[in-house]
Amino acid sequence: MTDHDVVIVGAGLAGLVAALDLTRAGLDVRLLERDEQPGGRVATERVDGFVVDRGFQVLNTSYPQVRRRLDLDALDLRLFTSGALVRRDGRLHRLVDPRRHPGGLVGTLGSGLLPWRDKLAVAAYAARAGYQPVGRLLAEPETTAAQALRRRGIGDAGVERFLRPFLSGVLGEDELETSSRYVDLVWRSFARGRVGVPAAGMSAIPRQLPDGVLRCGVDVQAVDGGEVRHADGRLGARAVVVATDPRTAGRLLPTLAVPPMRALTTVYHAAPEPPGTEPILLLEGDDDRMVANSVVLSNAAPGYSGDGRALVATSLVGGAAAGVDEAAVRRRLARLYGVPTDGWAHVRTVSVPDALPGAQPPLGDLRRPVDLGDGLFVAGDHRDTPSVQGAMASGTRAARAVLDALAATSAAAR
Ligand SMILES: Cc1cc2nc3c(=O)[nH]c(=O)nc-3n(C[C@H](O)[C@H](O)[C@H](O)COP(=O)(O)OP(=O)(O)OC[C@H]3O[C@@H](n4cnc5c(N)ncnc54)[C@H](O)[C@@H]3O)c2cc1C
Repeated sequence: MTDHDVVIVGAGLAGLVAALDLTRAGLDVRLLERDEQPGGRVATERVDGFVVDRGFQVLNTSYPQVRRRLDLDALDLRLFTSGALVRRDGRLHRLVDPRRHPGGLVGTLGSGLLPWRDKLAVAAYAARAGYQPVGRLLAEPETTAAQALRRRGIGDAGVERFLRPFLSGVLGEDELETSSRYVDLVWRSFARGRVGVPAAGMSAIPRQLPDGVLRCGVDVQAVDGGEVRHADGRLGARAVVVATDPRTAGRLLPTLAVPPMRALTTVYHAAPEPPGTEPILLLEGDDDRMVANSVVLSNAAPGYSGDGRALVATSLVGGAAAGVDEAAVRRRLARLYGVPTDGWAHVRTVSVPDALPGAQPPLGDLRRPVDLGDGLFVAGDHRDTPSVQGAMASGTRAARAVLDALAATSAAAR
């Protein structure tokens, strides 16, 4: 006896998307979520009137799943400048994408941050990742990002003063040991799209995905064939999709290989005055880097601040376990922004130990199997790329696999 056609465990973006597609296909679906609200790692809370996301995150408009499934107008996406400010030896360098910000071309070309050779090599790398067909990118030999950047002729200055600082916050690691294939796709998304945050916070994204079949507060403890067990009982289904975070997926599905997780910490401060007015990422280009990046969020999205003070989000690679000293971060921000930060108030430190699944080589074609056989399916960013796009794409694939499997079973029964 089954209670539903499909039970999905976990209402992050992957589970929500899978539920949406399966419900639209006419199946009886139940979506179980441990927390009191859906969204998983994409969540937002209000702290003293500030909009505080579960770590600094951005939405990229070029993600295919974003274009297909989200209403960007309704999200009222607040965009950042395409590029970054880099502080090195006390000087601030502004490197922007001249296609989007033509006024920044002269400053970017004239910046003394990188030698000409590295400027040209970085530009060539970005153009190649942005405009080559995906098939050709994926046909390149897969190495670590560090090796791939060197292979593209980018020297020490280009890597250490710009690419490593820029990528560390995106990849959740400092060693550039992530797969070159994934990093190519990251560059592609930056070259083709803009990044921003919804005016009301990142949790507006899962709110756009209907959840009529959702039941919250259900902590699933075991998955066994066509059965899901939780504290209050059990549910039978023709298919079960495990769409939890990777660590829980590994516990519920012991045969599943799950990657090591990357930790990220974001320290949120309120500043009486914004240090600058541009919504742009600020990076440390010095050798003694402490933070991955910092941004005045309220310059892009004024609604992130409830009282007119500026909300500054500063990201660090690693979790609370690595020991994040808020006062030390605030002192470093004085050097980075070039303004006194004594009067800045600490709003919240958000540490996410399992922020991103590591994407080390070999990833192959970047898509891992979602159909485990015997009516068991798996979805989540660990099946694709560690991103909003990857999570939603995995949910899409898992739903398609369920439909194929159930259709095959029905055909066999006739
Ligand atoms: C700090 C940070 C910064 C990021 N920055 C970006 C960025 O800039 N751009 C980008 O594209 N991506 C970014 N990401 C990654 C992106 O948020 C994730 O890849 C994506 O949200 C993962 O979605 P998911 O559905 O795969 O998993 P999750 O969001 O982890 O969802 C899994 C769900 O399963 C539930 N669950 C777990 N166990 C159980 C159980 N036993 N029973 C029932 N339910 C359970 C959880 O509560 C959760 O709701 C960032 C992530 C973090 C944390």
